[in-house]
Amino acid sequence: MSDAGNVLVTGGAGFIGSHVCKRLAAAGYQPIVLDNLSRGFRSSVKWGPLEVADIGDGARVREILNRYRPIGVMHFSAFTSVGESVQQPALYYSNNVGATAVLLQAVIEHGAPPFVFSSTAAIYGNPASVPVDEDHPHRPINPYGRSKLYVEHMLADANQASGLPWVALRYFNAAGCDPDGEIGERHDPETHLIPIIVRAALKGSTVSIFGDDYDTPDGTCIRDYIHVNDLADAHILALKYLARGGKSCGINLANSKGFSVREVLATVERVCGRPVAVKIDPRRPGDPAVLIGKTERAKELLGWSPKRSDLELQVRDAWNWYENFLPSV
Ligand code: UDP
Repeated sequence: MSDAGNVLVTGGAGFIGSHVCKRLAAAGYQPIVLDNLSRGFRSSVKWGPLEVADIGDGARVREILNRYRPIGVMHFSAFTSVGESVQQPALYYSNNVGATAVLLQAVIEHGAPPFVFSSTAAIYGNPASVPVDEDHPHRPINPYGRSKLYVEHMLADANQASGLPWVALRYFNAAGCDPDGEIGERHDPETHLIPIIVRAALKGSTVSIFGDDYDTPDGTCIRDYIHVNDLADAHILALKYLARGGKSCGINLANSKGFSVREVLATVERVCGRPVAVKIDPRRPGDPAVLIGKTERAKELLGWSPKRSDLELQVRDAWNWYENFLPSV
């Protein structure tokens, strides 16, 4: 065991989970990855043991909790694609909600250690106004967002019933990669905008813009992109916050700056020095026009503020990963 203790990281073989593991290890914790590798990659687990298991398998989860006795749990295992959730809602509810209930039961039986949940700005749906703070009505417009919101409700109920301390970190759009190139964003298939454009710049392929008739200045959707290492830092701060008795709640993680799909395209073209061909496709079901977050709560409760907030920097780190590292991992 490391100095600061073991932390169970479900989904630690995935994009955000693996970046958090690297940061946990640097901070003196031992990340214990629990991942069924359905969407994650064995090669992304580099800073601690990997237990190949499903969070919905209560017996296995209990056995892992008993063996490692984690001082905290960080829960990333989930399906995360808005479009897929619209096509296959039951898949999202069974994996993101049903399996999480099994995990939660085992964690409570284990003594209810601090629980940091990977939530999303998708729980806000179409914002009435931006930037959105945590008290904005929770009205998700797609099954992915609903699945994450239901887990937040489960956590609040578990807190009432069993005292489980929890924080739900509501990410806006996770982007960028480890600047050292040890790990990066890998989805198969890839659905997220920045990696899609970076790959298109590398391969010379065409990017689809999902709708250019939104009520935004250039007609394309606006999102708030936040570097994955900034997200990772917030998880460790959240664990420490709960360990010192902080109140359980949802906390936004964002940059509070929005970029349209066309602005992201222009940034990638500038950073990569290559033009990217585009075509306009229909709107993607479940997409709100604008999502920008307010982060006063993260500053106040966690002492967190983003360090790699510049969109160019996020694109540069992604480009570095795709150009230099991804083919060899
Ligand atoms: N998007 C797009 N083309 C793509 C992928 C995404 O136009 O090939 C748009 C998508 O409709 C959304 C924004 O880019 O408005 C960000 O989408 P992403 O899937 O990266 O993140 P989300 O906001 O869904 O979490």
